[in-house]
Amino acid sequence: MNRITDTILDLLYPPRCCFCRKVIERQAHGICRNCREKLPLLKKGERRRMLDGGFVCIYPLLYNEMVRESFLRFKFYGAVSYAEPYSAILAECFKDDPFCCDIVTWVPLSRSKRKKRGYDQAELLAEGLSSLLGLDCRKILYKNKETKTQSLLKTGDERRRNIKGAYSLCDENTVKGKKILIIDDIVTTGATLSECCRVLKKAGAEMVTAAAFASAE
Ligand SMILES: [Zn+2]
Repeated sequence: MNRITDTILDLLYPPRCCFCRKVIERQAHGICRNCREKLPLLKKGERRRMLDGGFVCIYPLLYNEMVRESFLRFKFYGAVSYAEPYSAILAECFKDDPFCCDIVTWVPLSRSKRKKRGYDQAELLAEGLSSLLGLDCRKILYKNKETKTQSLLKTGDERRRNIKGAYSLCDENTVKGKKILIIDDIVTTGATLSECCRVLKKAGAEMVTAAAFASAE
């Protein structure tokens, strides 16, 4: 886009901070200075944990109220432009630790949910992150059945049972011998991510690592 179009667009739809929604300059890349300072960023040693099955999950943020308010607009109310600042925050995790991976993918929504929402928020994060890291991004899994909303289930056991067998491979041959990074939006118990990692590993992936935008636990 040229500068004149940019200027007109900025007047009509001024860029806003994805957290507090104040009008900001385009150069601020979606986050105002105040919110950037307040972000619940986790320290290097705190931003990873082991999921069931021994898979590592990496995340830059704690899912506090500030992140939650912004995230709900991204997930449910069409604020797709947040994918850019969110991916940049997520990419920070991989800056200090040189990361080796062949394909970036995501935990997909079911086909009917994606159709209803018009986009898949985890896909947007995976695309944003892979372009920042210069990696290949591909759809590898699909959701083969509707499941109950994980956040409405109380115990880890209920969540594991709910999600078991819900994901299948689009193509059996894409993952053999590959190092895969799988992205989800928010990680809570990690049951969903762990199930997806399990499916990828079982299909012959050499290594599977998970990452999420924020951790609720
Ligand atoms: Zn702000």
